[in-house]
Amino acid sequence: MATVLKDHLVSDATRRFLDRAGNLWINGEWCAARSEKTFEVYNPATGEIIARCAAGDRADIDAAVHAARYAFESGSWSRMTASERGRLIWKLGDLLEEHGDEFAELETLDNGKPFNVARAADVPLAIDLFRYMAGWATKIHGQTFPISVPYMPGSEFFSYTAREPIGVAGQIIPWNFPLLMAAWKLGPALAAGCTVVLKPAEQTPLSALRLGELIEEAGFPEGVVNIVTGLGETAGAALAAHPDVDKIAFTGSTEVGRLIVEAAGKSNLKKVTLELGGKSPNIVLADADLSAAIPGAAGAIFFNHGQCCCAGSRLYVQKSIYDEVVEGVAHYARQIRVGSGFDAAAQMGPLVSQEQLDRVCGYIEAGIRDGARLVAGGRRKGERGYFVEPTVFAGARQSMKIVREEIFGPVVAAMPFDDPEEVLSLANDSAYGLAAAVWTRDVTQAHRLARRLKAGNVWINCYNIFDAALPFGGYKESGWGREMGLAAVELYTEIKAVTTRLA
Ligand code: ADP
Repeated sequence: MATVLKDHLVSDATRRFLDRAGNLWINGEWCAARSEKTFEVYNPATGEIIARCAAGDRADIDAAVHAARYAFESGSWSRMTASERGRLIWKLGDLLEEHGDEFAELETLDNGKPFNVARAADVPLAIDLFRYMAGWATKIHGQTFPISVPYMPGSEFFSYTAREPIGVAGQIIPWNFPLLMAAWKLGPALAAGCTVVLKPAEQTPLSALRLGELIEEAGFPEGVVNIVTGLGETAGAALAAHPDVDKIAFTGSTEVGRLIVEAAGKSNLKKVTLELGGKSPNIVLADADLSAAIPGAAGAIFFNHGQCCCAGSRLYVQKSIYDEVVEGVAHYARQIRVGSGFDAAAQMGPLVSQEQLDRVCGYIEAGIRDGARLVAGGRRKGERGYFVEPTVFAGARQSMKIVREEIFGPVVAAMPFDDPEEVLSLANDSAYGLAAAVWTRDVTQAHRLARRLKAGNVWINCYNIFDAALPFGGYKESGWGREMGLAAVELYTEIKAVTTRLA
């Protein structure tokens, strides 16, 4: 049965959950913040308050880290058999599948993304991530080494490495894919045998809390995962600076990434992985199949309303096809249905918050001021909720703010180029290096460019292709380390080299 939450039809299961979303999850118990403070969570389609969550702070982070430390050292998790650990992670994927529609609903309510998109992308990707990582739990192993030790002639040794869980992991995640980012973080940490304190973004804490309930239902030992909702400057900062956290994994803005590194350095030099901003170049060569490249370029920027760190926000098009591609992408932009994520026809929902709306509109104004030509969109849509039109700028220049800075909204800047050498230098002229794409029928050219693009992910004749098996992360100021794949699991381990003298 569904009930109406102001404008939207929401299932009773979700409505009941919203009433109990005001607690932190620490050591297997749901509890209020020690300060008893709360913060409000908004529906970005309407601006209405949908829940009040606990504003966790330093004292709550302390309690959560203590619980995670105890769970780690007591061995309830790290010494559980790898097979049993994998089985629990797999079970979490199954439970998520069982409750998939509830999670899609929460993502739409909390983040604004269309329900159909959350159901087709965010939820299945999160399920798949847990299943993929469940498999790694039994496959984390070391190596043996034929060592020579030149200063001890005639001696013999047996040397091997073991990969051990790093310990207590603090994880701070953003609001653009709330459930999926929780899965990207929790999956590899749990597979490796770490215990976790997770802090969701204050804009979108709901799906992580609901995931906590499923972790409890799956039967994970208490304290293995702890979830502390709260603000970045308080709860997030306390986690990053905590002296008993062994690793901090952060996804968010480059500015906050720098603060995390500073806090890690000033406290205990905890290990740090960062998945930060991007300003990804999307390159269309003259020989590309435009029936794929044009919708591909539109999807690259408008998927998730441009609120993707890898959004294809710089569109470089070879001169002879520039007008056709720009007009093609603009045509797509004008056709996109922007509306409430619960409207079945909506292809784009609202931005996540008033702050984000102001930020994106500010960048659009800067683009106009700097002399770029607006060919689609450019305005806020409606007066209620945080909707903005899909926006295409032509005639942008490399020095413009809309080309240099991450907008994190549905705004693309198109620029023409003459030849592949020129576009390589333009594409690589950025502080970021997260993703890049090339559209061409020339396989050799595609791989030549892929080899020289300074980006952690390069897509050829496609965009936004993600898989749990494929490492994701950035060069330069886009981050440290990788998410997903074996690469992510290894970043939750320490390598121990053990040597025994045999003769
Ligand atoms: P955005 O600007 O897009 O909201 P942020 O980088 O500010 O992205 O936020 C990503 C995550 O980082 C959120 O969970 C947020 O609460 C957290 N955060 C923000 N500021 C800090 C901080 N000073 N220390 C630790 N975490 C923070």
